[in-house]
Amino acid sequence: MSAPIKIAIIGGGASGTISAIQLLSRLEVKAKIFLIEKNKEALFRGAAYANQLAYEPLNVQAGRMSIYNHLPDDFYDWVKAKKESSTGVAVSKDTFVSRRWFGDYLTENFVKAKKHSKTTEAEIIHAACEDLAYDASSNQYTLSFKDREHLSADCLVFACGNEPPSDIFSRAETEAMGDNYISNPWGTNPFEELKETDDVLIIGTGLTMIDHAVSLQKQNHKGKIYCISRNGYLPLPHTDIQHFAFDITKEPTELKEALDVLNQNITTAKAQNITWQNVMDAMRPHTSRIWKQMSLKSKKLFLEKLRKYWEIHRHRMPLPSAIAIEQMQSTGQLKIVAGYYQSLQLNNEGIIFNYVSKGVKQKCSLTVNRIINCTGPSSDYYKTGSVLFKNLLDKGWMKQDSLKLGIETGSNGEIIKNNGTVLQNTFAIGPLRKAAEWETIAVREIRTQAEGVAILLSSYLNRPAE
Ligand SMILES: Cc1cc2nc3c(=O)[nH]c(=O)nc-3n(C[C@H](O)[C@H](O)[C@H](O)COP(=O)(O)OP(=O)(O)OC[C@H]3O[C@@H](n4cnc5c(N)ncnc54)[C@H](O)[C@@H]3O)c2cc1C
Repeated sequence: MSAPIKIAIIGGGASGTISAIQLLSRLEVKAKIFLIEKNKEALFRGAAYANQLAYEPLNVQAGRMSIYNHLPDDFYDWVKAKKESSTGVAVSKDTFVSRRWFGDYLTENFVKAKKHSKTTEAEIIHAACEDLAYDASSNQYTLSFKDREHLSADCLVFACGNEPPSDIFSRAETEAMGDNYISNPWGTNPFEELKETDDVLIIGTGLTMIDHAVSLQKQNHKGKIYCISRNGYLPLPHTDIQHFAFDITKEPTELKEALDVLNQNITTAKAQNITWQNVMDAMRPHTSRIWKQMSLKSKKLFLEKLRKYWEIHRHRMPLPSAIAIEQMQSTGQLKIVAGYYQSLQLNNEGIIFNYVSKGVKQKCSLTVNRIINCTGPSSDYYKTGSVLFKNLLDKGWMKQDSLKLGIETGSNGEIIKNNGTVLQNTFAIGPLRKAAEWETIAVREIRTQAEGVAILLSSYLNRPAE
């Protein structure tokens, strides 16, 4: 009897879990899947769906969070069946339900897929994968771990996801702040031992900031909340789901053409009383293709000039979050600041955060008791602290892309080596594909990528042996 095909999935968050589900459902050969997750609490949940905040809604409506392309209402139906009556929370397709519920949904679907597979087994490994070796004679990889024996695999799926934000402070500064500086907002509870009247500074004004600020409100925090970013722009709110057919008459290859296409569609939608939010969503199946077609010059221009606007239009907040933020602003509890970090001091009052305000370039300071870094996932894999990435980049098995959005990947997510060739039998899913795809971090794209990889692998592996 031949040995089972071994597939190691590195990362047990949403990308790894959806990949495992797809492979379990599609493989018809004897196979074994290893789902490798370094952080026990993150299994089947990752950074997004395991958190402990008091306020943790999905940033996407329930009607748009299915993990199956062919069953667009699957998550919504699951919520109706499993959560609505037990919690008493009325849910429509437009509701932003709990992120922890989505983690429960992922867990249940993994268990179901594992149970139903006739040929493929799945094993969970709780360990941090730190390095890889490749043996050409057996055509196999050996994975090495921090506190575990080696593992061999024929094929690798990199689902390592969102790395914690990079620090704007020096090591000495972070050490001086101690527990009053939270460098990873998706790790342990950022509000542990925070006094009700303490003042908090959140660095970053995106969706992670929103969740943290509203969580403070939900737990009746009395202290001030300052939020700083270079522009001080907040995510714009979602509107209800409306169907819109995004139209591209001529494929854009430069930034200006891409913007023209978007604007034309917004004009058409407006005439049909459809919101620009729904146009942005209808564009998503096209965004990666447009990104790939654009020249490097256009990509650079986009990142330099337009990224800040793209982020707030594309990564929107649920309406209840927008209402809560507005309310906190109106009472003066929450203040949004546009400015640049300068320096830091500590005294008996707390942490003095010195910054230069945007525009007038005035030197200002804030005295706070806690600082939380919500600047978004870091994509400079040389600096994230991931031993695996550092090792693979050092030996040329991964290549940082020229725009420093992450690493280079091929059209099916294959990892590209420093010499431009493919690291064979490897695939990346999710945020790791940012440089190649741009639009790649959310469930809608992840489910398509995971399905694509599973179809590719199963069509190859399920063939009768020649
Ligand atoms: C707070 C937050 C909220 C979000 N909300 C939404 C939303 O509502 N809707 C939506 O569509 N998207 C949302 N997203 C986007 C999110 O990127 C995706 O939905 C999805 O969670 C990404 O999953 P992932 O598995 O790729 O990454 P991650 O969630 O980061 O999971 C990767 C996992 O890999 C593990 N890992 C990494 N390296 C190793 C290693 N070397 N060895 C072993 N394990 C390793 C990590 O511990 C981690 O658990 C949200 C993101 C965040 C951060």
